[in-house]
Amino acid sequence: MAPDERQAVRAGYATHGERPDDKTWAHLLPKVELHVHLDGAFDPALLFELAKKRLGELPENTESAVTGKAMAVRDKVASCEKLEDFEKLITCKGQRSLKAMLDCFNIFLPCVRGDLNAVEEMSYRFCCRQAKENVVYTEEFPREVWPGLVRYSPHLLLDGEYFSGETRLDPEAAVAAVTRGLRRGCREHGIVVNQILCCISFQPSWSTAIVDLALKHRDAFPCAVVGIDVAAGEVGDDPAQHAPAFQRANELGIKATLHAGEMGGPENVRHAVFDFRAARVGHGYAAADQPELLKACVAEGAHFEVCPTSSQETGAWHYTDDKPPWPKHPLHAMLEAGASVSINSDDPSVFVTDLTEEFCVCLRAGLTRQEALQLNRNALQAAFGDRKELQEVRRLIDAYAMQMDPVSVSA
Ligand SMILES: [Zn+2]
Repeated sequence: MAPDERQAVRAGYATHGERPDDKTWAHLLPKVELHVHLDGAFDPALLFELAKKRLGELPENTESAVTGKAMAVRDKVASCEKLEDFEKLITCKGQRSLKAMLDCFNIFLPCVRGDLNAVEEMSYRFCCRQAKENVVYTEEFPREVWPGLVRYSPHLLLDGEYFSGETRLDPEAAVAAVTRGLRRGCREHGIVVNQILCCISFQPSWSTAIVDLALKHRDAFPCAVVGIDVAAGEVGDDPAQHAPAFQRANELGIKATLHAGEMGGPENVRHAVFDFRAARVGHGYAAADQPELLKACVAEGAHFEVCPTSSQETGAWHYTDDKPPWPKHPLHAMLEAGASVSINSDDPSVFVTDLTEEFCVCLRAGLTRQEALQLNRNALQAAFGDRKELQEVRRLIDAYAMQMDPVSVSA
C-alpha cells in the first residue's frame, strides 16, 4: 500500500468512521519487530540473480539436514528457470520441519557468502521490505551472514569448503557492509533498524569476538549494534561453553536476547533468563508448559519474542490437529501468566510471511486489536535501541492508536 493510500484509509476512518478490515489495520499499524534474521529476510529476486551469476562457484553438494545425505545444491539451483521455481526451492512452507528450513539456508546462503556488495544490498533491501510493511522499528539479526563470512577464516579456507576468491574477509567487514546497507535503507524510508549480533551455538570460540564487535559498535547510531544473541541451536545445549563471553557482556552492559525453548526444553529458557541474564528470550514456547518457570520468568521481567508462523512451520509448536489450533498457541499461556510478549516474523522469506500477516494470525487466533496493539507496545518497551529513537516510534504508535481507535485509547 502506497503512503497516500495509507493516508486515505486513515482519513476515511477519521472522517466517516470506516473501520478497516484486520489486514489493513495490521498493515497500517506502525510496527515494532524485535526478532527477524537478515538472512531469513533476503530478497528472493536478488538471491536468484546472485545464484545465476555465481552458479559455477556454488558447492556441488552439501549434507541435507533432512536426509543426512548429499544434496545437489548446484543442480537444484541450475534447474530453476524462473524466479518462482527458485522461490519454491528456498521456502519450507507447509513442511513443519526445522530441518527442512535449514536445507533452504543451505541452498541460498552460498549465493551470498563472501560477497560484501551483495550483503550490503541485501541489508538495504531488508529496510525496503520493512518499510513496505510499515515496520518502523526493527532489531534484526545478521545471523548467518556472520558465520558465512567467518567461513573465510584460514582453517576453513584450507578445507576448500567455500569460495576461494576472498581470503581477507573478517567479521568486522561484514558488520560494516550490513551497516552501510541498513543506513542507506533507513535514510531513504525514514525507519529505524538496529542490529543484534549472533553467537553460534556450536562455535563458542567465536563468541568473544562477537562481544568485542558489539562493544565497538554499540554507540554507532544509526543502525548500531544494540545486543547479542545465540542462534543456530540454543545456548542451553552447552551453556558452559558460552558462559565466559556472556559474563563479560553482562559486565559491559551489553544486552542479550537468546534463542531458547524453541526446539529445546524449558531448562534452556531457565538458563537464558537466570544464568545468562538475557532480557529477552527468542521463542521460549517450552516455558509455556511449565507454569512455575513461566511465573519466575515473568517475575524476572523477561520478554518473549514469539514468532507465530515460524513456530508452526518449524514444528517448534507441537500440535496434532490437521490445522494449526491457533487459540491454543503457547502465546496465550504466556499472556495469561502476565508475560511481556511481542510478535515477530523470524525468517519471513523462508516462511513466506511478513509482520502484517503475523499480526493477522494473532487476530485470527482470538486476540483483539487492542491486545495486538499492546503486543506492539510491549515490543517497543523491550527494545534495546536508543531511547530517543524509541520515543519517536512511541509517538507514531500513539498517533495511530488515537486516530484508529480513540475509544479504546481513552478507556
Ligand atoms: Zn530466530
